[in-house]
Amino acid sequence: MAGACMSRRPLIGLFGGTFDPVHIGHLRMALELRQQLEMDEMRLVPCHIPPHRREPAASADHRAAMVELAIAACPDLSIDRVELANPEPSYSLHTLQALRRSLGPEPALCLAMGMDSLVSLNSWHRWDELLDYAHIVVAARPGWQEPSDGELADYVTRHRGKAADLRQSPGGHIVIEELMLLPVSSTAIRAQIAQGRSPQFLLPDNVWAYILRNNLYRR
Ligand code: ATP
Repeated sequence: MAGACMSRRPLIGLFGGTFDPVHIGHLRMALELRQQLEMDEMRLVPCHIPPHRREPAASADHRAAMVELAIAACPDLSIDRVELANPEPSYSLHTLQALRRSLGPEPALCLAMGMDSLVSLNSWHRWDELLDYAHIVVAARPGWQEPSDGELADYVTRHRGKAADLRQSPGGHIVIEELMLLPVSSTAIRAQIAQGRSPQFLLPDNVWAYILRNNLYRR
């Protein structure tokens, strides 16, 4: 019908991480990406078993509970437990395939990651198939440079897109966004707690209270 408005393709952000524990760096990045790219949703996706690093210090249940607490007062962020239901290592490709099965082919999915994750993307399981299922949205993170040579740099150049491209297709582009990222890491927070120091203000108060209550990250 002439003049009928075309439906807008939903744009859904997926921010995977170990979240051991979740901190304000993760939360600000997720929120800023959602706002900057005008996403319809931004889901934090805690992994069950990370394939590329040693076992997390806290269980998947504790890590997911902390994410729940962290976003409880933030309607712009949600949690997706897709990886927690799977006893296998949490490969992003499998996660995207599972989400495609449940969400269908239409929505644009944006796999969000920091630059530190992008620079090792070519070590991920079947990494060059990820763009068949989603876009990749990268936040430049302090201290990390974009890949400048080799297969990864070629790949990024070939698929590089702009924010405005994201809603035009369900996947296929790599978009790099300059964000104001906070220099906080889970590793530093765990180290502080192990030394008996307080990480208060680096993570939400209710998450810190949960860590104390459950005696997490003490040596
Ligand atoms: P660790 O110190 O244990 O490696 P981390 O703080 O880097 O943890 P992860 O859960 O491993 O957090 O990271 C999940 C995602 O969050 C990655 O894509 C990473 O780039 C991103 N990320 C981590 N810290 C920050 C931060 N301060 N600002 C923005 N993004 C971050």
